[in-house]
Amino acid sequence: MPKLRGHHLICLHFFRGDGYDAAFVENLKGILVRTESDIVDISEGGDDVCIKCPHLNGNRCIYTKDADENIRKMDKRALNLLNLSPGTKISWQEIRKMLPGIFHEWYKAECIRCSWRWACEKNSLYQQMVLAVDDND
Ligand code: SF4
Repeated sequence: MPKLRGHHLICLHFFRGDGYDAAFVENLKGILVRTESDIVDISEGGDDVCIKCPHLNGNRCIYTKDADENIRKMDKRALNLLNLSPGTKISWQEIRKMLPGIFHEWYKAECIRCSWRWACEKNSLYQQMVLAVDDND
């Protein structure tokens, strides 16, 4: 059962193959294959994606001084928007169905300042969601 933290429940729907290095990307691809047939276990802190990240130290992100705190805030926002909490088990398809209802707020709060936005912008689902945000503004 893939363990995924809050913000990954949103961001990973837009993955197109970009990541920190080959091991990170391969791991992420494998997780996304598993989400097709397996229930997702919502976790806190470093998850099954982070485990292959070169910036994970223990259960903390050391990418920058404030990274861990900021990412945990992202997790909290994602879980609040999705109305989910750590420990919940849910299918990937159920989460995906919720995206149109929460994406506007997510985009305005997180995507707008995210350094990985260039990667999500290659994804057609992401492009559609951004168009819907623009139409509603
Ligand atoms: S742009 Fe950043 S915050 Fe927005 S979905 Fe992509 S990775 Fe997540």
